[in-house]
Amino acid sequence: MSSSKIVDDSYLDISFKEAVRFFKKQSSPGECPMCKSVSWSIPMATEDASVSLSDTGMRDLNGSPVLELKMQCKVCGFLRAHRASFIRDWLDSNPAPNEVSDDV
Ligand SMILES: [Zn+2]
Repeated sequence: MSSSKIVDDSYLDISFKEAVRFFKKQSSPGECPMCKSVSWSIPMATEDASVSLSDTGMRDLNGSPVLELKMQCKVCGFLRAHRASFIRDWLDSNPAPNEVSDDV
């Protein structure tokens, strides 16, 4: 129908702190499957910014773009990716203690 391509991914906004919390609590990266080192980083500009998400090129059932968050091995550059929606869902269901108290 429309040829315009507007990607609204604001609903998947994930801060650096949130991403770190997810990887520490829920999905520890462990050792790199390639070089066996345990040194990962999330490529981004600053710690206060939202993490950058990549468009996988896939679409979900609603036609929304499937986004992923990539981490890189700091030794060999191996990239691992998580679907951003899974991280966002986990963060929403597992708020940090200070996030909970903010609402009281
Ligand atoms: Zn590696």
